[in-house]
Amino acid sequence: MIYTVCGCIKGEQMGKTLSHEHFKWEVDEDKTGGMYFEQLYDEAENQVLIEKMLPFMMALKSAGCGSIVEASPPFGGQNLRVLKSLSEISGVHIIPCTGMNLTKYSHHLFGDCYIEVLSKRWIQDFEEGLEKIGDTVIRPGYMKLLNKRGMLCDVDRDMLTAAAIASNKTGMPIHCHILEAVHVQASLDVVKAQGTPLSKFVWAHADHDADLDVIQSVIDQGGWVGFDSIHEDNYVTERDLIKHAIANGYEHQILLSQDYDIYEESLKSDGINRYTSLLEKFVPFCIEGGIDEKKLEEILTVNPSKFYDISIVRN
Ligand SMILES: [Zn+2]
Repeated sequence: MIYTVCGCIKGEQMGKTLSHEHFKWEVDEDKTGGMYFEQLYDEAENQVLIEKMLPFMMALKSAGCGSIVEASPPFGGQNLRVLKSLSEISGVHIIPCTGMNLTKYSHHLFGDCYIEVLSKRWIQDFEEGLEKIGDTVIRPGYMKLLNKRGMLCDVDRDMLTAAAIASNKTGMPIHCHILEAVHVQASLDVVKAQGTPLSKFVWAHADHDADLDVIQSVIDQGGWVGFDSIHEDNYVTERDLIKHAIANGYEHQILLSQDYDIYEESLKSDGINRYTSLLEKFVPFCIEGGIDEKKLEEILTVNPSKFYDISIVRN
């Protein structure tokens, strides 16, 4: 089952999926905490956001997009009401998340019980739902973490442990933002120490510091990698990464996306074209460059339907 903002769907229903996009990153903690902890929304602002973002969703739908994964965690401004409206109107499935839901400084206060408190909360988000809107209990489809740059620090280590515990209990996969290849293995080790299979872990932004040896090592341990920052100025590099995956037989463990922010793009004149470019320009570019069309289609459809599949069923 895939958990979306409009309830659960089967993997086959996902269609072509952008596996790491942002709707509107938000840094105002009052706003993000209010939405997550107390379901407090600014409805007037929500209407403005829906109006700005809907043309993007309709254009994505026309370009053949079936699903988008919201990569902003609760602390980053995930707005379930806006997401649900956008999904209902456009017909594009949206997969929400739980995960980083408070400032990392809270680790100073809750050091000893941090892992227990966080893992309990993330399990509860799945079991009870993040929020009920109308008749729909919205459950997270995965957990989102964002590691700081540099060596794995205590707070990120504890967040990963909490996520692994919650994953073992619920089946939710873990999406972990790591910008430096040299620090990836430390995160894998933390997850593995909880007995969590790495088939539940994706190294998001593996294309930022695309060390092919580290990528291969993540794959060999059963993990996934995200080539999720596909932009028009890096098509050749991203295509070559996909070619590397195919040549080395791990194309079924990669997820593709653009990592744009829809709201930010809505403020630019050419935002929509940029947003649909993965499907409308990058895919043809890859096929012209020798990548098998069917294989590419499978990467965009079958792969996310496997990674985000949670066998536990909750209605
Ligand atoms: Zn992102």
